[in-house]
Amino acid sequence: MKKEMIVIAGPCSIENEQMIIEIYEQIKDDITIFRGGAFKPRTKVESFQGLHAKGIELITAVSQKPIASEIMDTRDIDLFKNIEYVQIGARNMQNFALLKEVGKNFKKVILKRGLSSTVEEFVAAAEYLKYYGCEQVILCERGIRTFSDSSRFTLDFSAVIKLRQETDYQVIIDVSHAAGDVRFIDDLARAAIACGADGIMIEVHNNPLHALSDANQQITPNHFQQLIAELEQIHQLITKQKS
Ligand code: PEP
Ligand code: MN
Repeated sequence: MKKEMIVIAGPCSIENEQMIIEIYEQIKDDITIFRGGAFKPRTKVESFQGLHAKGIELITAVSQKPIASEIMDTRDIDLFKNIEYVQIGARNMQNFALLKEVGKNFKKVILKRGLSSTVEEFVAAAEYLKYYGCEQVILCERGIRTFSDSSRFTLDFSAVIKLRQETDYQVIIDVSHAAGDVRFIDDLARAAIACGADGIMIEVHNNPLHALSDANQQITPNHFQQLIAELEQIHQLITKQKS
């Protein structure tokens, strides 16, 4: 059976109704899961924090595809009841109270690797989710903190290879947060699929330079369409070699 590449894409943040409709309409045929943040973990308090409940409402009204959105607080669990893939962000990978409650309340979770977490800690966090009731945990390598200043975070391809060899979890790579720069997205995405990842996450925005968060790393829907066509070919080649 042909194994489908998991493609999770959409804007960093849900900003307003028009942008979410425009982006969705242009990428829906190429995605498995539509992403968009309503609760944003921002370093600076004055940065855009997301539309919160309104954001969740907008994305669920627009998308016919399963949705992924980040939850940061156990008090928001009810708001996420129509979100098929709840995302736990890098900064919360070891928020054990959140892991327990998300495990109890949701079946499908995307778990991002912490900025300085080991592979062992990453798997241990996923085990929390499973222990408390999650049925599908997708592990997402999104780059870690190292001394390298080549990109925003350093993508740990070996971690993806190891996780795929030694665990049964699906493993995807978020190239956008690792890159932090639109110029690196294509090559990192090619490398992500070539190293055997089960899929990718990419931030897509209809007007990247004016995005309210992560403006430097989001690609346009046209760019995304071209890239996905290429990644499908790489994915076919890799899965053929492995079967
Ligand atoms: C995100 O995917 O929106 C995000 C904030 O990513 P991370 O938790 O990996 O920084
Ligand atoms: Mn982002």
